[in-house]
Amino acid sequence: MTKDSDVARRRYPDCVARWGRPRIRPLDELLTLPTRSPLADELSRALAAATRMHMLKSDLVRVPVRVTATTSEAGAYRYRRANPIDIRVSNRSGHAATGFLHELAHFVDHQVHYDRRSRVWASAIHPAFAQWRATVAQLAPRPFPGGSHRKRYFESAQEVWARCYAQTVLLRSGDPLLLAQLGELQRRDEPHVWPSHAFDAVALQVELVFERLALTQLELPLAA
Ligand SMILES: [Zn+2]
Repeated sequence: MTKDSDVARRRYPDCVARWGRPRIRPLDELLTLPTRSPLADELSRALAAATRMHMLKSDLVRVPVRVTATTSEAGAYRYRRANPIDIRVSNRSGHAATGFLHELAHFVDHQVHYDRRSRVWASAIHPAFAQWRATVAQLAPRPFPGGSHRKRYFESAQEVWARCYAQTVLLRSGDPLLLAQLGELQRRDEPHVWPSHAFDAVALQVELVFERLALTQLELPLAA
């Protein structure tokens, strides 16, 4: 390989391959978690909780989840046009499960609907999200320290969706570690989470999004 193409490959990482027809699949079949990271247990608990909440229609081969040491952000979802590249989670945030679920929410949002021309995702325009949009619009805005550009992004449909999704999965997880993490973020009044009493109606709407998309039906064993 020449030096130039090596540089090009690094600048434009490969997208995840697709195989066969889009089909409804459990979330944990669509991602590959790191196995040797100290975060492996925490991430697999978070993915298990999300997998219990909904599935996804997709023809993607597994999306890699990569642990980074980034301090500037808790995670990132990388993609090119309609195609995922990877999900990145920082091991420095102190709340990796929440950071991972936030990026997983972006992946789900992007894969449910992506408009090539407007580049708009499901959370902003898909009808299955309309009730969720209406409900979340009634919440008091969370305090956000920072400039107006970052604040606008913080309040965009994509970002609000990602925060709602992460909090709903944590809330419904039944997992003591995940519930403790949510409780700690709420106790510190982190802008990324809402107080419990304000959030109940929103959590229900997040679940209903997946009902409306017909992504919650678990496969029932056939009676003999
Ligand atoms: Zn985000």
